[in-house]
Formats: sequence, C-alpha cells, structure tokens
Amino acid sequence: MIEGFETDFENRISAPEYQPGDLDFDPSLRPKTLEEYVGQEKAKENLTVYIEAARQRKESLDHVLLYGPPGLGKTTLAAIIANEMNVNIRITSGPAIEKPGDLAALLTNLSPGDILFIDEIHRLSRSVEEVLYPAMEDYALDIIIGKGPSARSIRIDLPHFTLIGATTRAGQLTAPLRDRFGVILRLELYTPEELARIVTRSAKILEIPCSEEGAAALACRSRGTPRIANRLLKRARDFAQVMGDGTITPAIADTALSRMEIDELGLDATDRRMLHAIIEHYRGGPVGLETLAANIGEEAVTLEDVYEPYLMQIGFLSRTPRGRCVTQSAYRHLGIEPPAAETSEQPPLY
Ligand code: ADP
Repeated sequence: MIEGFETDFENRISAPEYQPGDLDFDPSLRPKTLEEYVGQEKAKENLTVYIEAARQRKESLDHVLLYGPPGLGKTTLAAIIANEMNVNIRITSGPAIEKPGDLAALLTNLSPGDILFIDEIHRLSRSVEEVLYPAMEDYALDIIIGKGPSARSIRIDLPHFTLIGATTRAGQLTAPLRDRFGVILRLELYTPEELARIVTRSAKILEIPCSEEGAAALACRSRGTPRIANRLLKRARDFAQVMGDGTITPAIADTALSRMEIDELGLDATDRRMLHAIIEHYRGGPVGLETLAANIGEEAVTLEDVYEPYLMQIGFLSRTPRGRCVTQSAYRHLGIEPPAAETSEQPPLY
C-alpha cells in the first residue's frame, strides 16, 4: 500500500538536485521486495532482522536514516520497507515542508505503524526540525497557543509511526536530528555485476531484448548508480530500434554511449570538464569546490553529490583539506601527461 508514491514525485523533482533525466522515472522498475532489491547486501541483511523483530513484537519499526549519492535506491528501499511491514507510506521532501504546520498536518494524518518518508531531510528548516524532535522521540506534537505571557503549550499524541529520512549528505544533518534515528544505513555505489543484474531485470520488465554482454556494457558505464543504468538502458533501446534489429548488443550499447558522450568508464561531458578544469586552470589542484563550480558553471552541490562520489571511487579525484586534486590515473585517462611531482603536493595557482 504505497500512497502518494507517484503523485508526490512532483514534489521531489522540483528540487534542484534532481536532473531533468529523472523524469524518465518508471515506477514499474522499482523492486517491491527486499529479495528483488539487488545489492546493498549489508544494509539488506540488517534491515531484514529489524523488520522481522518489529513485526514479531507488533511494533512500528524504529526511525531509519538512509544516506548515499542520488539514484542509489533510497526511495525504493523506503517503499520496500513499507511493503514488507505491510503499512502505508507517505512520501515528501525536506524543501516541500515549508512551515511547522505543514509537518504537523502530515503527522496528525498518519495511522499507527505508517511510514513518513522525507527525502532530502537535510534541507528541513530549523523550525520544522524542532517539531520533529518530540514527534520522533515521544510520538507527540507540542503546539503553542497564543502569544506573549498568555501563550501556553499543549501536547497532542501522535500514532506510533516510522520516519524514514533520506539524504545525500549525512554530514549536514544536525546532531539532535541524527541522534534520533535508531537505524542508520549507508548505501554504497553498486558493482558492475550488480548493475548488470539491474539492467537485465529492467530489460525484462520493459520487454527490451538485451544480450548478457549488452547489459554488461551498459552496467560498466553507469557510474555505480541504478538510476543511470535504467536511463542508459532506455536510450540504448532507442538506438537498437532505429539502428539495429531491436536487440541491445555490446556494439549497439557502444554506439549509444558514445553518441551520448559517455566514455568507457562512464564519465560524461561534465566529469571531463571538471577534470580538465582542475588540470588546466589549477595545475591538477588543490582547488576549492566553489571556485571549481564557478569555473565550469555548475552548482557546487551538484558537483559534490552527483559527480564527485564516482570520480573518487574510481580514484580520479582526491579530497584534501585544501581542496580537490586530480590523480595521476585521471591524467592518463584523459591522455594528458601527468606532471612529474605528485599533483597534490603542487602549490595552488592563486
Ligand atoms: P534515490 O531515492 O536514492 O535517489 P531511487 O530509489 O529513486 O533512488 O532509485 C532510482 C531508480 O533506480 C529506481 O527507479 C529503481 O528502479 C532503481 N533502483 C534503485 N536501487 C535498485 C536496486 N537495488 N535494485 C533494482 N533497481 C534499483
């Protein structure tokens, strides 16, 4: 029972972090059970225990915080938890809850056991966050009536609900909020093998003929992210339909990816622009994130949330206290001669 799973998506895509490509969101591709959910074995194993224990005790699940880069399956996992617990889920996002009253309305409409999913929870305003503390801890709302000396506070009891918060940046959560989550799960980038399984599964659901090698070719270039894997699958389908016999083969996957300017490691034009800028304008770094973002005309949060995790995972970028540095392997990948000395030891240009 997933209420508002599709309708509330409108709220989510209005947030600046969401890319226009997210519009190709397809609810049918979302796994519905933990068993169907590929990868994230550690998180899944523990969640299975927590869900089973809560069900045996006939209690609501403790509050859960999911964190990791966009597109890794946080919303999907929240919906799966609701499904496995057999409860309703209400989906909203931090920026969509503008006033404390908005949150109070959401909370008072929940039924016992229900899940409230707040995406981008780090973007809640402080006044809204303060309503959340007693709600999470004591299942109560403290409402102030009146103003000045005659103001008084009344307490409204709430049903025992589960809050699932998702964030791309756990570090930006305030300590009091973070401490109120009983379960904190970090989602990792997926391996190419896991992504190949996701592509094969999605191809089957969408009835796209896709060879095993074709799926592997798309998986290796999906930068560890299921949302990107599904998007590449849909675009490769277009090329297979128009330029081939409809089947996604490695050759068709290659054509599609090079037409989309995605290289053999999955780097796109923005990744390359970012690396080139650090090399050409800042001698390989270090350079501060804001400076870099201004230089290439992107938002700093987008670089940090969307681009950096993968570049760091493949060892192309390192973060130092003085800023971002490009590594020798990134130079080699771009076909540029790396400087003799360690790039990170070079003095900055400014
Ligand atoms: P997030 O909330 O972390 O940004 P989503 O839950 O919206 O990510 O996932 C993006 C897409 O990727 C979903 O449409 C879903 O189909 C797919 N997906 C994510 N994780 C998995 C997984 N573990 N197995 C299969 N598909 C997945």
